[in-house]
Order: sequence, then C-alpha cells, then structure tokens
Amino acid sequence: MDFGFTEEQRMVQEMAKSFAEKEIAPYVEQDEENHYYRREILSKMGEMGLLGWSMPEEYGGNGMGWMEAVTALYEIAKVHTSWRLSISGNCWGPAMTILEYGTDEQKKKFIPPLLSGEAVGSFAMTEANSGSDVGSMKMFAEDKGSHYVLNGSKMWISGGHTSDIGLVYVCTEEGGGPKGLSCFIIDYNNTEGIERIPINKKVGMWSAPTSELVFENAQVPKENLLGPVNKGFPICMWMLNNTRMGCATGAAALSAAALEGSVAYANERTQFGQPIGKFQLVQAQIAEMKLEDDAALQLVYRAAWLKQNKMPSQQQTSMAKLYSCKAAVNAANIAMKVYGSYGYSDEYPCGRWLRDAKQFETLEGTSNIHTTIVAGIELGYQPNR
Ligand SMILES: Cc1cc2nc3c(=O)[nH]c(=O)nc-3n(C[C@H](O)[C@H](O)[C@H](O)COP(=O)(O)OP(=O)(O)OC[C@H]3O[C@@H](n4cnc5c(N)ncnc54)[C@H](O)[C@@H]3O)c2cc1C
Repeated sequence: MDFGFTEEQRMVQEMAKSFAEKEIAPYVEQDEENHYYRREILSKMGEMGLLGWSMPEEYGGNGMGWMEAVTALYEIAKVHTSWRLSISGNCWGPAMTILEYGTDEQKKKFIPPLLSGEAVGSFAMTEANSGSDVGSMKMFAEDKGSHYVLNGSKMWISGGHTSDIGLVYVCTEEGGGPKGLSCFIIDYNNTEGIERIPINKKVGMWSAPTSELVFENAQVPKENLLGPVNKGFPICMWMLNNTRMGCATGAAALSAAALEGSVAYANERTQFGQPIGKFQLVQAQIAEMKLEDDAALQLVYRAAWLKQNKMPSQQQTSMAKLYSCKAAVNAANIAMKVYGSYGYSDEYPCGRWLRDAKQFETLEGTSNIHTTIVAGIELGYQPNR
C-alpha cells in the first residue's frame, strides 16, 4: 500500500491550494455575510481545469483521475466548503452522467460548457414530499411525441436558480415508482415554464445557492431525454455514487480546517500562565479531532482509489461520506469549545464550520440512508456496485 502522493497529485494540491487562497479566501467572510454566490469563481475554476475531473480531454476534461480530484476538492473545501459543490454540480453530476449515458450530440452540446465553467450545472431529484425515498417522486413528464411536457416541482436544489444546464429526474410512468423514472437534461435559459425560487434562509452554505424549481407545462425536446425512458432510477444511483465523493471530501476538508484552526488557537491562547494546548483536556480534544480527521481522509482516498481503478465503490463511498460527516460535525463542535467565547463570535470561522458541517448529514443521502447502504451491502442484501 502506498500512502505517498504522486508527483501529479502534489502539483494538483499546490495549484488548488494557491487557487483557493488567491481566488476564494479573500471573499469568504464578505460573501457569507451577504449570502452571495460569486459566479466568477466558477469561471476561474473552469479556466484552471478544476471542473474537469475524470473526464476526457475531447470534451474539455483535464485528463486527471479521482485521486487528483479529491486532492483538489479538499484544498478548495478547506477554505470555503460552499465551493466544493461546484465540482459535483458541474462535473460529477451532469457532465459525468451525460458522458456515461448520453448520445454523441448530448455529449458535444452539454459537457464542454459545464467543464469550462461557462455554464453552471445542477441535478434535481428531491421534492417537498420525496427526499430519501427517491422513487416516490411525483413530478411528471408526459410524452407528446416530439417533446415531453414537465409539470411539478423540485425542492432544495443546489444551484437551482443559478444553473444553466441541469439534470432533472421525473416520473414517466404513473405509479411506476423507481421503475417509472426518467432523467432529462434541462437547458434552463431556453426552456419556458420554469419558475426558479431561491431558498434564502438556510442554516449554512450561505455562499452556495439553493432553490425550489416549479415546472408548469415546460416543454423539453425528446433529444434531451438522458438514457432510456424509465431507467432514471439506476442512472440517478450511478450519479449519486460519484457526487457523494464531493460530500465525503468536503466534510473531511471541513474537519481538517476546524482541526488546523483549533491547533493554532490552542497554541496562541494562554490561560493560567500557559497556552491552553498544554492542558491535557484540550489535548484530548485535539487528539479526538486528529484521529477522526485522519480516518475520514483515508476512507475518502480509498473510495477515490477504487473509482480511479474502476472497481465497485458504493459501500466504500457511503462509508467515506458517513464517517467524514461525523468527523466534520464533531470537529466543528469541538472547535467551538476550544475557541471559547471567541468561537461563538464572528471573529473566527467556528460558527460557519458548525453551520456548514450540518448539511453533510442530510444531503445526497442522510446519515441513516448511508448506514443502511453500508449494512445492506455487508449483509449481502445488495451488491456493491
Ligand atoms: C443545502 C442542501 C442542498 C441540497 N441539494 C440538493 C440537490 O442539489 N439536489 C437534490 O435533488 N436534492 C438536494 N438536497 C436535498 C437532500 O438531498 C434531501 O434533503 C435528502 O435526501 C433528505 O431528504 P428529506 O430532507 O426529504 O428527508 P427525509 O427523507 O424526509 O428524512 C427525514 C429523516 O428520516 C430519516 N429516514 C428517512 N428514510 C429512512 C430510512 N429508510 N431509514 C432510516 N431513516 C430514514 C432520515 O435519515 C432523516 O433523518 C439538498 C438539501 C440541502 C439541505
């Protein structure tokens, strides 16, 4: 087993770190305060090749794989976790799924703008009454011959109102459950009948927009159906097995940011005549964070390695997400204690870490759902895909 970075990974790490420090860090506090999505950061990510992971160069991919991808995403998310969403939202969500299931025309038309950062991407499954139970969704697409007519709504969609190109999963067979879902590529700027409503008040992720989407007789051309009709559920599960790496890596990065901050603060803050880091109870807190952070990152890299080598990875991806989320929430919680009252102020990022960490327990499969995936595969109730 090789725990070292390759030369390529090290270069990617340095590039992503310097990008995050130069292009993201200066705006974090200001954008958080204003709940502002700085669109130009996405364009710059595209220019730097930070959106084209595991994608072929002919469509604008950067020619690098999952190991390099998680290395880069980690450096970005450590600075501001809102921006880790762009890699899932553009590359691992729509672009990679179109590459796997799309026609040549769909690939040529939709993948390059997603990887160059010219377009913002998104993917939408969740509805007000359909979350963990994806197969229970109600939004419907009616076949009208040359096109489909979409009616219904989606909820909690990352980048929903900023998105140019998105995947939307809908029913194409009433009462069909998971066997009656299909996936459509939506060209948001050229489709009538879609109202996009920002969800402005949420606990965290203040620089990453979230939206409700309402479709009213929206006409979508037949050539925008992705994959076969009624095969949307397996396509969605395939996609989530990729996008969940964004959550897992982002959570591990947040845990690392909280750890690094706490270490610096514990060495700097003195009480009773010495740095608080000298107290054994503070050391226990630092050790707990370090242990969980290291374990989380190793689970992330193992899942990435399996993906890079085209091996089954669903259970390992769920393990990485489940554990990294726990590590992130715990690290953010401990950081708040290590920093004392200053942690509770806006002088330090402890509040942001805690707010942002909580998202990971819910999106792209709640922690309960990932627990059932890990156990279900282990018990032989489902294969590891
Ligand atoms: C910031 C943010 C961004 C998001 N971005 C997107 C996006 O881009 N696209 C998208 O489609 N969705 C998105 N979501 C939605 C997210 O994926 C769903 O919220 C999530 O799947 C959970 O669904 P729910 O909220 O309806 O909870 P529910 O499914 O109603 O679950 C409620 C509780 O019941 C538990 N539960 C449910 N079923 C089971 C079970 N079988 N076993 C054990 N426990 C169970 C859950 O673990 C949870 O604790 C986003 C959500 C947030 C908060």
